[in-house]
Amino acid sequence: MLKESKPNFFWSMLTMKCPRCRRGHMFLNNNPWNLKKTLKMHEKCPECSQPFELEVGFWYGTGYVSYALTVIMSAASFVGWWVLIGLSTEDNRLFWWLGINSVVLIVLQPWIMRLSRVIYLYFFVGYDADYKNSSVKKFDYQTEDYYKEGKQPDTHFPP
Ligand SMILES: [Zn+2]
Repeated sequence: MLKESKPNFFWSMLTMKCPRCRRGHMFLNNNPWNLKKTLKMHEKCPECSQPFELEVGFWYGTGYVSYALTVIMSAASFVGWWVLIGLSTEDNRLFWWLGINSVVLIVLQPWIMRLSRVIYLYFFVGYDADYKNSSVKKFDYQTEDYYKEGKQPDTHFPP
């Protein structure tokens, strides 16, 4: 059998796959706008058994990620608006941008919440090509691992 290639980092993030194997889905339901299920996740990766909620309250930090995403997206839409539509102090174009940007951000909110969790988990869990034979990443402040590789998404750490 051919050796499976390594799935792309950003594509895996956008499609919300497990950071460790980049194959298993993180969320139970594919549609983030199904609001009852927006944040329903697999407890463990269906493919490699990596636990997702690494400790109680793990997801609290995602607030910062979603804030950063919101700022980045607003900046991008502001620049896009400026280039394509323009801004002037003599009409309401700035307020149109404000209104439309807010509406878009509200509509995208469920997707942003999910993506924040994905990005956040990618900070802590790196890709492991040998995920079938190695042990899952545990989030434990007592282990040395956490300090060594905790924030390097692409490091392969032999078991
Ligand atoms: Zn996995």
